[in-house]
Amino acid sequence: MAEKHFKYVILGGGVAAGYAAREFVKLGLNPGELAIISKESVAPYERPALSKGYLFPQGAARLPGFHVCVGSGGERLLPEWYAEKGIELILGTEIVKADLASKTLTSAADVIIKYDILIIATGSTVIRLSDFGVQGADANNIFYLREIDDADKLVAAIHAKKDGKAVIVGGGYIGLELGAALKINNLDVTMVYPEPWCMPRLFTAGIAAFYEGYYANKGIKIIKGTVAVGFDSDANGDVTAVRLKDGRVLEADIVVVGVGGRPLITLFKGQVEEEKGGIKTDGFFKTSIPDVYAVGDVATFPLKLYNEQRRVEHVDHARKSAEQAVKAIKAVEEGESIEEYDYLPYFYSRSFDLSWQFYGDNVGDTILFGDNDPTSAKPKFGTYWIKEGKVVGVFLESGSLEENKSIAKVAKLQPPVQDPEQLEKEGLAFASKI
Ligand code: FAD
Repeated sequence: MAEKHFKYVILGGGVAAGYAAREFVKLGLNPGELAIISKESVAPYERPALSKGYLFPQGAARLPGFHVCVGSGGERLLPEWYAEKGIELILGTEIVKADLASKTLTSAADVIIKYDILIIATGSTVIRLSDFGVQGADANNIFYLREIDDADKLVAAIHAKKDGKAVIVGGGYIGLELGAALKINNLDVTMVYPEPWCMPRLFTAGIAAFYEGYYANKGIKIIKGTVAVGFDSDANGDVTAVRLKDGRVLEADIVVVGVGGRPLITLFKGQVEEEKGGIKTDGFFKTSIPDVYAVGDVATFPLKLYNEQRRVEHVDHARKSAEQAVKAIKAVEEGESIEEYDYLPYFYSRSFDLSWQFYGDNVGDTILFGDNDPTSAKPKFGTYWIKEGKVVGVFLESGSLEENKSIAKVAKLQPPVQDPEQLEKEGLAFASKI
């Protein structure tokens, strides 16, 4: 049985792993000290590209174009970079057992990897319709999107089913981005989701009405208030139709399912404290076990601004939590201290020629401002969330760099609102003068 030992091991080779590696190098890393173990066969990359540029019919994004850290304006970390820095990339390797007490990881091929300090960065996995026993859900051409292999299979199907029919199950950000991507690829797209409007966890009815109208104008059909309860397939096992709970049957050559994810923490069950479905950490991403850190999608950390423990499944937090954990590890080694993580939630999405950003917390009353008419030549609108007389969250579609900076500032500073009507009238100008 092969055995290796490293001072630092990052388990998971996604967004957080790449940003953590860069931070280690920045703060001082000797060759041979760090290993990244990943089930995927490629070096860390910017995962959000998979549902956006990766699916473009022309000029599609491909590796090495979007390895970390390009997503935040940094330099690409190519596989050679890791080699130059003496960082071992242990790719195509799934860890099937983690024993935190003996600081030992075991791979599917029985390789044993020991560490002094572990950073858990295993991210999330998709929720599958077969998990709920949806009939026929294992037919061919029913896709989920999490890793680059999934995206490659989807791209192959898009080519094979040229100008065919696609059904998107789910109206979250994956559903919306994939609906747009398949439409751009000239498929006939229908989206299905049970909620009264898309992205209900973030969007208000007013925000959603814009996107649903915009998508309808692009020729995407939207069916709300029902769910997929079964799939038909042909003699080859290829999906041919989606059966809905309300009795409708939708023809389909391709189905993409985006119904949510769950953090990958089963390896650590019973060994580490959990909270809100994730691994509980402090403001330095230390878990309840000494020398074990957890970052990115799997961490439930103290969100200082709102004084509560939260788990955040977004790329900006994956990057920043990874950097914070490495800073904390290095600070402990050097007997220094650093500030606790003080995160301002930030989410974004892009589809067609639209692009939105959201900062802060989407709680309280809302005020919609601007032009959210989906037929406008240049629609631009936003929403403020107001809690206890203060603006706590801001959403903006089609903002410039400066405008997006200003809404982030508002969400962070939480300015008081005397007159909501005045705020509605002022719209974006309110944010710009903060
Ligand atoms: P990941 O990047 O998921 O990396 C986890 C890695 O760990 C993977 O490589 C996985 O294979 C590996 N792994 C897991 N278990 C094991 C194991 N047992 N052994 C070995 N390796 C293992 N966020 C946004 O804010 N905006 C967006 O527009 C956006 N778009 C997205 C589009 C898609 C298609 C997806 C899937 C996600 C998107 N996200 C977006 C979310 C964002 O990508 C994640 O929050 C982020 O990638 C989390 O980083 P992470 O490092 O925690 O996990």
